[in-house]
Amino acid sequence: MNATSAASKPESYRMRMFSVRHARALKRIYALLECTLVQCEPLLRRIGYQRLDKPFARVESLTKGLLLDSRNCGQCIVGFTGLSCPMNCPKKMRNGPCGGVRDDGRCEVKPEMPCVWVLAWEGNQRLGEEQASMQVLQPPVDHRLPGKSAWLRELRIRVGDAGHAV
Ligand code: SF4
Repeated sequence: MNATSAASKPESYRMRMFSVRHARALKRIYALLECTLVQCEPLLRRIGYQRLDKPFARVESLTKGLLLDSRNCGQCIVGFTGLSCPMNCPKKMRNGPCGGVRDDGRCEVKPEMPCVWVLAWEGNQRLGEEQASMQVLQPPVDHRLPGKSAWLRELRIRVGDAGHAV
């Protein structure tokens, strides 16, 4: 089954809300990981990004799948969305909510699910970023990237290797 079509269960919704509530701590942990990856970049480059992509993507799928109910789009933007994965939106809205968010903050399409953008709002408030990061315009999903490692892609962008980060 394709990760993007996997049906979520109530426990995944609870996990999403847990992660949003702990957005500050989780973002700190990611910052540490990112720092380590930057330090190790010359070694990673020598081993080869192509070779490392699969194992990294597997670790990401396990950790982000558990914590964020991530859909592994390979172009993670949860750093902008208070750790709420926008790929869980049934309409795949990546630049803010649709017009149908229910009064109780639940999704128009899946009433049992909290709207990912309401969670994004809450997560960003916990990060003290208010809504500035949500207002950064996100590009459309690049369909070459699902299943690839977003961490390695971010790292390559960070070290100025963006041209090869697909
Ligand atoms: S209510 Fe929220 S999660 Fe549901 S379709 Fe609209 S933006 Fe997406």
